[in-house]
Amino acid sequence: SDHQLIYPPSPDHMDWSSLYPDYVVPEEDAPAEDQDASAKEDETYLADKLPRRLTQDIEVADIGCGFGGLLIALAPVMPQTLILGLEIRVSVTQYVQDRIKVLRQQNAASPLPQKPYSNIACLRANTMKFLPNFFSKAQLSKIFICFPDPHFKVRKHKQRIVSATLNSEYAYVLRPGGVVYTITDVPDLHEWMVGHFEKHLSFERLTTEEEDSDPCVAIMRTETEEGKKVERHSGAKYVACFRRKQELPYE
Ligand code: SAM
Repeated sequence: SDHQLIYPPSPDHMDWSSLYPDYVVPEEDAPAEDQDASAKEDETYLADKLPRRLTQDIEVADIGCGFGGLLIALAPVMPQTLILGLEIRVSVTQYVQDRIKVLRQQNAASPLPQKPYSNIACLRANTMKFLPNFFSKAQLSKIFICFPDPHFKVRKHKQRIVSATLNSEYAYVLRPGGVVYTITDVPDLHEWMVGHFEKHLSFERLTTEEEDSDPCVAIMRTETEEGKKVERHSGAKYVACFRRKQELPYE
């Protein structure tokens, strides 16, 4: 349950170092400690608590990443971008972390400047809560919501990971021009997601041409475990992508 989930008080307090070890700022480049502790007591106190920084920010999030197929497919397509899968189930998170570990080991001798799969990681989190504690405003360029749980019953709709409130959180962490990618095999859920994003002032839907020319859409259609399952049953897949508009005057 959520009781064991730990959230950083702010994105600056999140320690990403164990998830992206190749991207941790080297010790010698880290800012020097403030010697004058008495003068800046509060700041120093906070600074002491801050974890080692990464050399770059995470830019892509896979919400409810499941078994990690999308992360693993995206890793070589965006080798210089940090990608994070967020998953609520403990055992599934562990499975994805182990899978990434093995892939990194298998590719450790790679001559590439960025070691393969060093740019992807999986974190256990409930994305319905505290997403802005992990990501700062306008940090992300892409958010994937692939085959989210449909929660068919009307009284369960509040558990869907697309809603007016959650869309405002996605708008907050996405940069203007950034894209939310959605896909599902459930027509009712597709309509729900389209309805909620189209109603939201911060988003506009991509045209079919824009969707078709985006390589991430093709990857999302074929590479997630759920997408493969739907493929095996020759089921339909419904895609809808939404661009984060420029900031509104009151934001
Ligand atoms: N995206 C993957 C795919 O396409 O293969 C997995 C789809 S699966 C149907 C939905 C996943 O979302 C499950 O692994 C579930 O545990 C996860 N999930 C559901 N609610 C979540 C939440 N609030 N935060 C994080 N993950 C969640």
